[in-house]
Amino acid sequence: MTTRATITLVRGDITEQYADVLVNAANSSLLGGGGVDGAIHRCGGPEILAACRGLRASRYGKGLATGQAVATTAGRLHAEHVVHTVGPVWSGTEDRSALLASCYRESLRVASALGARTVAFPAISTGIYGWPLDDGARIAVRTVREAVLPPVTEVRFVLLGEEAYAHFEEALTA
Ligand code: ADP
Repeated sequence: MTTRATITLVRGDITEQYADVLVNAANSSLLGGGGVDGAIHRCGGPEILAACRGLRASRYGKGLATGQAVATTAGRLHAEHVVHTVGPVWSGTEDRSALLASCYRESLRVASALGARTVAFPAISTGIYGWPLDDGARIAVRTVREAVLPPVTEVRFVLLGEEAYAHFEEALTA
């Protein structure tokens, strides 16, 4: 049986969103970076970094593997949890799309286990990690449609910039 959830698109900054879970396009160190990661730590405050350091010290001594996801507090953000996931770096020679799909699937699995109803995603890997927006959007929409689990009823893509928004809109209507 397929799960019913609404997929919505929003233009803007993910740190301004209200949702049960905000997904962070993290890097494997879990210790912060640029793009979404930098914004989430900057706006969420030091509690998120402290929780990430705790995860490094306990379960993820070698860092979080690409395609995996893990939750922390959301600090001062308007959310219950941040789910950190590590997207693959784009490769022109190797097909890493299963890893990108895994980011969306694993984040939704973690969000569902936390009892989240609303989950906001950025366009994972399409910034510093260089994934083409058209393909990144198609993988994101397809995987969310396949993998969303109760009690999640809304998945929101939060897109910085018109180009990203247009690609997600196209993927959604295809
Ligand atoms: P990655 O390293 O996974 O590529 P980035 O954070 O560099 O992650 O970028 C992922 C996507 O998120 C890009 O499309 C980028 O334009 C966008 N982005 C960057 N900052 C924000 C933000 N604050 N809110 C939403 N999207 C953002």
